Amino acid sequence: VIEMGQPEHSTVTTCAYCGVGCSFKAEMKGDQLVRMVPYKGGDANQGHSCVKGRFAFGYATHKDRIKTPMIRDSINEPWREVDWDTALQFAADKLKAVQAKHGRNSIGGITSSRCTNEETYLVQKLIRAGFGNNNTDTCARVCHSPTGFGLKMTLGESAGTQTFDSVRHADAVLVIGANPTDAHPVFASALRRRLRQGARLIVADPREIDLLNTPHTQGSHHLPLRPGTNVAMINALAHVVVTEGFEDLDFIQGRCDKAAYHAWRAFIIDPRNSPEAMQQATGVDAERVRQAARDFASAPNGAIFYGLGVTEHSQGSTMVMGIANLALATGNIGREGVGVNPLRGQNNVQGACDMGSFPHELPGYQHVSDVAARSRFEDKWGVTLDQHPGLRIPNMFDAAIAGQFKGMYVQGEDIAQSDPNTQHVEAALRALECLVVQDIFLNETAKFAHVLLPGSTFLEKDGTFTNAERRINRVRRVMPPVAGMADWEVTAALSNALGYPMNYAHPSEIMDEIAELTPSFAGVSYDKLERLGSIQWPCNDANPEGTPTMHVDNFPIGKGQFAITEYVPTDERATARFPLLLTTGRILSQYNVGAQTRRTDNQSWHSEDLLELHPEDAQLRGIKDNDWLGISSRAGTTVLRARVSDRMLPGVVYTTFHHPFSGANVITTDASDWATNCPEYKVTAVQVEKVSQP
Ligand code: SF4
Repeated sequence: VIEMGQPEHSTVTTCAYCGVGCSFKAEMKGDQLVRMVPYKGGDANQGHSCVKGRFAFGYATHKDRIKTPMIRDSINEPWREVDWDTALQFAADKLKAVQAKHGRNSIGGITSSRCTNEETYLVQKLIRAGFGNNNTDTCARVCHSPTGFGLKMTLGESAGTQTFDSVRHADAVLVIGANPTDAHPVFASALRRRLRQGARLIVADPREIDLLNTPHTQGSHHLPLRPGTNVAMINALAHVVVTEGFEDLDFIQGRCDKAAYHAWRAFIIDPRNSPEAMQQATGVDAERVRQAARDFASAPNGAIFYGLGVTEHSQGSTMVMGIANLALATGNIGREGVGVNPLRGQNNVQGACDMGSFPHELPGYQHVSDVAARSRFEDKWGVTLDQHPGLRIPNMFDAAIAGQFKGMYVQGEDIAQSDPNTQHVEAALRALECLVVQDIFLNETAKFAHVLLPGSTFLEKDGTFTNAERRINRVRRVMPPVAGMADWEVTAALSNALGYPMNYAHPSEIMDEIAELTPSFAGVSYDKLERLGSIQWPCNDANPEGTPTMHVDNFPIGKGQFAITEYVPTDERATARFPLLLTTGRILSQYNVGAQTRRTDNQSWHSEDLLELHPEDAQLRGIKDNDWLGISSRAGTTVLRARVSDRMLPGVVYTTFHHPFSGANVITTDASDWATNCPEYKVTAVQVEKVSQP
């Protein structure tokens, strides 16, 4: 706990960790941050917070912060510290030279879900208007891109349907592939309150997550499915709903597309989708699945919450559509206490997606091939835009290795650590002629960079984040940027150096431009945010104060669209050589690759990643707690210490990915979702054996 005396003044801002988006008062003494106090007026948290948000802000003043721009001609040379103008001109000249030599599409940019809406908007604008292509992507590619795809296909909007608070009206809650206690703690508290009041809980997860141990609940089901079999499970649940008469026929008749429904119904009632038929794949007792389906479907209000255990699979998009199918079939859309609710891992995953950080979509999910949408942006930006989708992150890596992609601008994303198959990523980065990294620390990606532009933390800038409920929250500057420029100013300055003018006096002007070009943000402004506290989009003439619950009377696509969700087993299967399936997750005190939380007092709570394995698998290999283990997969090998735990399924092992030492992504493969290329982080076939201490 940082206690440095009584505060003199405070500023309300938004937590920069998970997708709950808690509001805090940053209390200051002079220019020193004294403490972060959960803000009672925060619409997402009402005065609650977790240990991460409250205490893990020390990274902002950590000695490792990069305070001076740096450049070098090759990655084998030492860095040279330079002033901002020199660094920006060096970066601009190098990027322009790459594009002149290798063509318009040889360059691209990646932005971060940790940056503000305004910053991510500027990065995609720079790529589209400044470089003239659509090679812009975001780290949402590796987490919730299947959510964007799956929900747009079925419900017509790439976003969750509810407020978190609406869970207090839920009678049954289905949690799939998520561990809210560790990853979304403030929401987990609200959910536990509802469970103690009598709501039923159904958890589909290979691990026995902490939520299942909530005391005083009326009943819960754990469906401990094998990694990679989500679609088999959701189809089995839907099969029971339809064949046992739990469908909400009024809702289906009034709100859903008839042809799509009948096609889906014929598919789902097929006996091959029954719990009995799917038991072989999922490993879950069929009667247990039947009872869970009955409890969910017979509840007046059934809500579904899901996390990366749904999306980070080769069938991630199929599974998201399967979840939407279940909600449509049971009529659990369009009122409080129900809905399809993706739990976003990072503070601004929703926002980064909303802001057009995808190679196929302009801000507001407007497709780049949409002539009318494109011409609005062309008029405003004064350029002709590319009508063809650009490269996704993994395509950029492949193209770099093939010698066709040579320059990259990466804002706030440590792709060398966070993306799967590290060796492949590093080979791609090494092949670039110009890599510009903008970050708060000298991260793993920066090892391959030619220009390092100091980034700014959430405490050093104005802007907005959009949380998992589509809630736009203000981020307010608490202290000046340590290197003199906020991230949005750096992107604008880089664009100016490249010759495409970007002149904004304040991020509010960027938001005004976003509102002008993005129908779902048409009514958003900083003045309105000051007045209302927060706004859930869509915010426009029809909903001037925002939309807490979506799809109340209709869907943006008219009718709800059932989708056929055929279960296709992943290629990543246990074999004699790699007999165990590895899956990954998070722990309460750490956040993502740990770049921030490892530089705070929270580090001492969880100083290394461990490999959890079931006692049977441990005994078979003579493994005890704390033994060093070598873990090998088709992609690579790493070393972790053991934690023997009966929370695991036999045959399944688990680790977190917060520490570069263990490098979980050294062993994850580059298999990915069929629709979005979201990596299949959650299933890796591995072998585990005892090794001597590394
Ligand atoms: Fe809230 Fe998430 Fe921040 Fe914790 S990490 S304070 S739950 S936003």
